[in-house]
Amino acid sequence: MSKNISIIGSGFAGLSTACYLAQQGHRVNVYEKNEHLGGRARVMKTDGYHFDMGPSWYWMPDVFDQFFESFGKKCSDYYELKRLSPSYRVYFGENDILDIPSNYEDFRNMFETIELGAGHQLDLFLEEAAKKYKVGMNDLVHTPCLSIFEFVNKKIFSNIFSIDLFQSFSNHIKKYFTHPKLIRLLEFPVLFLGAMPEETPALYSMMNYADIKLGTWYPMGGMGKIIDGMVTLAESLGVTFHTNAGVQKISVGSSNKCEGIVVNDKLIQTDIVVSAADYHHTEMNLLEDKFKNYSEKYWDSRVLAPSSLLFYLGVNKKINNLQHHNLFFDKPFSPHAIDIYKTPKWPEEPLFYVSCASKTDDSVAPEGKENLFILIPIAPNLKDDEETRAIYFEKVLTRLEKLTGESIKDYIEYKKSFCVTEFKNEYNSYKGNAYGLANTLMQTAVLKPKIKNKKISNLYYAGQLTVPGPGIPPCLISGSIIATQIKKDLVK
Ligand SMILES: Cc1cc2nc3c(=O)[nH]c(=O)nc-3n(C[C@H](O)[C@H](O)[C@H](O)COP(=O)(O)OP(=O)(O)OC[C@H]3O[C@@H](n4cnc5c(N)ncnc54)[C@H](O)[C@@H]3O)c2cc1C
Repeated sequence: MSKNISIIGSGFAGLSTACYLAQQGHRVNVYEKNEHLGGRARVMKTDGYHFDMGPSWYWMPDVFDQFFESFGKKCSDYYELKRLSPSYRVYFGENDILDIPSNYEDFRNMFETIELGAGHQLDLFLEEAAKKYKVGMNDLVHTPCLSIFEFVNKKIFSNIFSIDLFQSFSNHIKKYFTHPKLIRLLEFPVLFLGAMPEETPALYSMMNYADIKLGTWYPMGGMGKIIDGMVTLAESLGVTFHTNAGVQKISVGSSNKCEGIVVNDKLIQTDIVVSAADYHHTEMNLLEDKFKNYSEKYWDSRVLAPSSLLFYLGVNKKINNLQHHNLFFDKPFSPHAIDIYKTPKWPEEPLFYVSCASKTDDSVAPEGKENLFILIPIAPNLKDDEETRAIYFEKVLTRLEKLTGESIKDYIEYKKSFCVTEFKNEYNSYKGNAYGLANTLMQTAVLKPKIKNKKISNLYYAGQLTVPGPGIPPCLISGSIIATQIKKDLVK
C-alpha cells in the first residue's frame, strides 16, 4: 500500500532511502534545512573553482554500482568514473615519498622492496581481507542490527571468528609485517573509520582490500556528480525535494505514532518519518523527551569519529609535487591520535591530508590554477576560533611548502575554512563530528544506535550515526536497509 513518507535530510543516506522507498511505490518528500542537496557532500562554486566540501575518496566502486543497478541504472548513466593512478601519494618526510601504485604487481613489489618477504605476506593478508570483505559487504552490512538473533542463521555467524571481530586491527597487521612504513600504510584506511587502530576490530582489514584491490576512483566533475546523479534518479522515481525546509519538530499523536513533521511552522501530515539527519539532533531537538531512544548521557559516552579543520584553497599556479590525493605522515601518528581520542585538544603536529582534484579534472579550477582541499583531523567539540584556525593554517602550509618544495602561500587567491562550528551550524552535527561514530568493537553492528524508534512505530533513523556506519558506501546501504525494514513492517 502506498504511503506518504517524509525524509529529513538530503545527504547520501536520505537520498538513498528516498530512491528505494519511491521504488516501492510510496509518495516520498525529502526536507532539507540547507539550500543545497547532498548534506556533507555539498559543492561550493566560487571564483571559477569548484570545491567538493566533504568526501573526496571514491572507494568500494562495487557498492555504487549495486546502488544504481537496484534501479536498472549504471553509474555511467550519471557520471564518468576514472581510476586514479597512482592511487595516492604518502609523504613520510622530506624526500621520502611513496606513490601508491594502482596495479597490484607494482604494489606488491613496493612492499617487497621495503621489507624482504612482505610481498608474499601481502598476498596472504589480502586473501584473508578479501574473505572479510565478502562476508562483511554481502551480509553483515545489510543487516538492520535490531537484534543479535539476526546473526544466528546467517553466514556471518559461522564466520564470526574468521572475520576477526574480536582482535585489534593493529595486532592483526603486526602478525604480517614489521616495517613501520608498511604498518603505517595499512593502518591509514582505518583512520577513515575514525578510531585508533588498537581499538578497531581486525574485521576492518577489509578496508585494505578495498584500497589495494578495488582501487581509488574519481567521478569527473567532482564528488558532487554522485549527488546530482542520485537526485536525478530520485526525481525520475517521483521523489519531491524541499530545500530551505528545516524540520522543527516530529509531531507524535495520541497513539504514539508520528502524525507529521513541522516545517516552517506548518504541520505536514505523513504516514512514516525517516530521519536521515544527525541522529542526536533528531532525538534531542525534534522529539519530546518521552519518545527518545537514547539519553544525552548515552550520547556523551559514545566515541565519536573525528571532526576536522578544513581549508578550501584556490591557488594561482600549478603545483608540481602533489598528486590528486596526498597524505602527510611526516610526523608520528600516536600523539595526534591521543589528542583526538584520549585527551581531546588541538594537536601540536597534526598529520593532514591534501586533495588536489585539479590534477585529474580541469573543470574544478581555472586554467593554470589548482584546487586544494586540506583536512586536519581533530577531536570533536574543540573551540575553533579564527585565531586557532590561523595558527593551524600557518603550521600546515609551512610543512606543505617544505615537503613539496613549492611556494604556495603567496599564490592563494581564494581561502575558506570550515570546522566544528560550521559542522554544528550547517548540519546540526553532534559535537561537530565530521563522520559519525567511531567503528570500535563496542559501537559495531547491534551496538550502534538503532534504526527504529523504540516507542514510535513509524519513525526510523538512517545515516552515518546508525548501521552500517560512516562513509558514502555505508550511507548508500543505509537507505536500502531502512526501505527493506519499512516494507517488512508494513506487511505485519
Ligand atoms: C570532511 C569530510 C570528509 C569525508 N571524506 C569521505 C571520503 O573521502 N569518502 C567517504 O566515503 N566518506 C567520507 N566522509 C564521510 C561521508 O561524507 C559521510 O559519512 C556521509 O556523507 C554522511 O551522509 P549522511 O546522509 O549520513 O549525513 P549528512 O550528509 O550530514 O546529511 C544529513 C542532512 O540532514 C540535514 N539536516 C540536519 N538537520 C535537519 C533538519 N532539522 N531538517 C532538515 N534537514 C536537516 C543536513 O543539512 C544534511 O544535509 C567524509 C565526511 C566529511 C565531513
